[in-house]
Amino acid sequence: MPTYEFRCRKCRHEFSAKSSMKDKVNIVCPTCGGKELEELFGNYRFHVGGKATADKAMPPGCRECPASAPT
Ligand SMILES: [Zn+2]
Repeated sequence: MPTYEFRCRKCRHEFSAKSSMKDKVNIVCPTCGGKELEELFGNYRFHVGGKATADKAMPPGCRECPASAPT
């Protein structure tokens, strides 16, 4: 089962959780119980025979951008 990295939009707590794709919707922040989570891909790397395919694995959108702070 894969491990996903999340960051809570409420308290900014970062944590990892093992979950199937289907059950990701049921994950909540272990600190505040918030359900508004951002999925982090910072630790997610593809190693494919040394070829430069990492760019293709990047998700759309700017997840590192500080401008995407909660309203
Ligand atoms: Zn939280």
